[in-house]
Amino acid sequence: MRKRLRGIANFISQRLNSVRFRLTVWAVILLGLVLVAFSAFVYTTQLRTLRTNSILQLDSRMHQISSFYRLALLNYYVNGTIQLPSGITQNNFLIQENETLALIDSQGQEVQKLGNISDAEVKSLVQSFVSNNTNGHVNDIYFQMAIKGTSKGPAQTYLFVMTPIGFPGSDNAQGLLLFGMPFDPHGELNTLLLTLIIASSTILLGTMLGGYWLAGRVMRPVHIITRAAQQISETDLNQRLNLQTKDELGELANTFDRMLDRLQAAFDRQRQFTADASHELRTPLTIVNLEASRALERRRSSEDYVQSLSIIKSENEYMTSLVNDLLTLARMDAGQSQLRSEDLDLSDVTLDVVERLATIAHDKGVQLYTGELPEISMIGDRQFLGQMITNLVENAIKYSEGANKKVFVETGIHTNGKGQVGWVKVEDNGPGIPDEALPHLFDRFFRVDEVRSQNQSSDEGGDRPNGSGLGLSIVQWIAKAHGGEVSVSSEIGKGTTFTVSLPIPN
Ligand code: ADP
Repeated sequence: MRKRLRGIANFISQRLNSVRFRLTVWAVILLGLVLVAFSAFVYTTQLRTLRTNSILQLDSRMHQISSFYRLALLNYYVNGTIQLPSGITQNNFLIQENETLALIDSQGQEVQKLGNISDAEVKSLVQSFVSNNTNGHVNDIYFQMAIKGTSKGPAQTYLFVMTPIGFPGSDNAQGLLLFGMPFDPHGELNTLLLTLIIASSTILLGTMLGGYWLAGRVMRPVHIITRAAQQISETDLNQRLNLQTKDELGELANTFDRMLDRLQAAFDRQRQFTADASHELRTPLTIVNLEASRALERRRSSEDYVQSLSIIKSENEYMTSLVNDLLTLARMDAGQSQLRSEDLDLSDVTLDVVERLATIAHDKGVQLYTGELPEISMIGDRQFLGQMITNLVENAIKYSEGANKKVFVETGIHTNGKGQVGWVKVEDNGPGIPDEALPHLFDRFFRVDEVRSQNQSSDEGGDRPNGSGLGLSIVQWIAKAHGGEVSVSSEIGKGTTFTVSLPIPN
């Protein structure tokens, strides 16, 4: 039971935290605010209109009434007192039901009062008139006030207009005429308010349901992506989303698929690399094992032992160089090989390499010589560049080996569209590389079989290739790390030329 409750609580909290729910809530909140502001605007505008209309009506009524009273005052001012005709009553032609009227003389005394208003209320209105006209100018004033109910009518809000009125006779004294009409905008506006509330609620409810549905639809691809991502494991990178929509989510899914392509390619490369590396190591290890077993089988002559040990040593050297190359590449892949940039002369580095390899070339009967080596000042990693040129020259010696074979090394500078480029060229008149092998030359562990069979190691160790197939990968990595590139041209039977071009910063 408790488990179930927790399950339900989890489900609810997941829903509440979902983007879908939050999107909907935000849409509803924002729209709600807009609707409230809109309703408030409509309501106040309507209220103002009603008040303006009432004031206009009040003014026109007051105009009528005050003209009548001005006349009446002239006619009925007798002996210093006002005797208004008794004919003026509620509900006659002048004052209608619900309306109130009061005439105040210059002394502040009520001369006449009609309608549902008490003396105290008249007094307070007169006071507010006086306090609003302190600046000497005598104007009409409008005043809204709630009138208590009496026997003549129920309690109600009235809108009053007060206007000064001249009393004839002594020094043109000013009295005050006060006229009021019921004003109850809220009664009328209640219908409007109700309409606004019902309309807004309906719109909000519609937005909530529609928004939730729409957000669900929009988020569906995200769920697909999530599920697919959950299914992708290290061993199975084949899964793709293949989302066909053309919107942002389609773009995201597409980016995700392309990322998986790259990941899969990287994984495949890595797997291939490990498989190749193990394969490469297995052969020399087997040879070492066989050779050692053979030597230990029975007592042998010292020449036999020397031969066995030479083979073991040669295989060991091969493995050492292979492991070194593997380590270099692994570091390069992992981004751990940082270039230690310094000012250097590319020709200087080249010459160093040539001098170092001269003995090996001589031993193999290869003539190693240099052409022009002009000063090429650039910034680079001396050790890496040395290794790069060494690999190229070593290859040229290794694969050309034999009488009349020559390896020619030259450097120079040329200018291309982007600026100056320093180059190193290593040329041999060896067996050449077949055209179909050229595109794969820089792949890891790639070796040209034909070349290999012609040049199998004459070392004591015997029938194994000279190299691991990693040298040119390393050359390419170093060239690229310096912003440059390697190119190769070759002709079977004539020879091969490798050229490395490296940009020289201005
Ligand atoms: P390796 O360690 O086997 O030399 P590389 O990556 O340096 O590996 O070279 C890859 C292959 O390219 C070699 O196995 C060889 O067949 C071929 N190759 C490289 N340089 C030359 C060259 N100068 N002449 C002929 N073939 C070459």
